[in-house]
Amino acid sequence: MCSTHCDRHGLVDMRVARLNGPRSLEITDRPGHWPAAGQVVVEITACGVGGSDREAWLGGTVVAPAWFGHEWAGKVTAVGEGVAGRFEGQRVVAGVSPPCGSCSPCGAGRSSNCRTVLEQIVGLDPLAADHGGFATETVADARRVVPVDEAISFIDAVLIEPAAVAAHAIRRSGLRIGDVAVVVGGGTVGLLTSELARLAGAAHIASVDTSIARNELACDLGVDAAFTSVDDGLRHWLDDHSGGLGADVVFICVDTEEALAAGLSLVCPGGAIVAVGVGNRIDNLSVTALLAREADFRVSLGYSSDDIDRVQALMRQDRLRVRPLRQPDVVGLDELNAVFESGIEPAAGPPKVVVRPNGV
Ligand SMILES: [Zn+2]
Repeated sequence: MCSTHCDRHGLVDMRVARLNGPRSLEITDRPGHWPAAGQVVVEITACGVGGSDREAWLGGTVVAPAWFGHEWAGKVTAVGEGVAGRFEGQRVVAGVSPPCGSCSPCGAGRSSNCRTVLEQIVGLDPLAADHGGFATETVADARRVVPVDEAISFIDAVLIEPAAVAAHAIRRSGLRIGDVAVVVGGGTVGLLTSELARLAGAAHIASVDTSIARNELACDLGVDAAFTSVDDGLRHWLDDHSGGLGADVVFICVDTEEALAAGLSLVCPGGAIVAVGVGNRIDNLSVTALLAREADFRVSLGYSSDDIDRVQALMRQDRLRVRPLRQPDVVGLDELNAVFESGIEPAAGPPKVVVRPNGV
C-alpha cells in the first residue's frame, strides 16, 4: 500500500476541513503535501478542538488558516531539504521553535518576545500551511514541530499545547510558594492552570465556573474549592484563606466582562490579575480599581518552546494529569460540524473534544 508520499505513484489525496463561511464547514479532498525546504509533512493522528476554533467557525473566518485546528499531534511522513533533527516516523506535536536569534527583538536581547515565535503561535509564519490540523495531514515549518515523548499517547499529546498556554500563564503571574490563587473559568486552560498552580506551590486554590460538573472535575484535579459564581461563597472562602486580603493571583481563563470584574474584585492589594489567552474585554478594564490596590494586570499570550518541554516532563511523570480533561470518545472529521453545532466543551463532561482525522 502506498504511503502518503509514494515515490512511484506521487502524492496521495488527503482530506481537510475547510471553513467556507459562518457555521459552514466543508470536508473536502485535495492533493497531499510535498515538503518545501525547511518543512515537514505530518500525518495528523489527533487534533483537539478549542474555543478559538469554535469562534472561527461561528464567524466563518480565521485570522490564519493554519491556526484553525492548532492542537495537533501526529507522525512525520516527509522531511524537506535542510531540515535537521526531524525524521520520518517521528512522533511530534505542534509547538513553537526556540527564539530565532535573528529577528529584531532577539537582536535586542529580548528573545522572550521573539517575533518568529509569535508568528508561529498565531499561524502566520512564512512556512505555515493553508489549513490547520483538522485534516488527515498537514505541512509545517520543521522548527515548530516538537518531538513527543513515547510515554505520552497521541490523544493525550493534544493537551500539550493548552498545557503550555497554562504553564506560560503561571510564569507570567509571578505566583509564589504559599500563594492564594483563584482561577476564573473551568474550561481546558482553566483546569490546567489550576493543576499547574498547585504544582508551582500555591497553598490554596479556588476555581469558578457556572457548570457544576466542571467544578466537580476541578475538585477531582485538586482545587480546594469550586464555586458557580463569585457570590456563591467564594468571597467567604477567600476571606478565610487570605486573612481578608484577597487572592494573590487571579487567573482569568474565560473571555467575559463578568470574569474581568471578578478578577478586579478578588485580587489582594499588591496582587496580580492575569488574562490567559483572552483579551477582548481588556478595553473595559477599570484602571482605577487596579490603582486602589496597586495590583498588576498582566496578559499571557501563547507559550514558549521551554513551556512545552516543561509540561511534557510533568505529563511523563503523571504529575500533570490531562486524561480527565478530554472526552473519552473521539470523533472523525465528518462529525466536526456537529461538534461545533453543539457547542464545544460540553458542560456535562470533560471539556476537550479530540478529532482523529485518520480514524481511530
Ligand atoms: Zn527571534
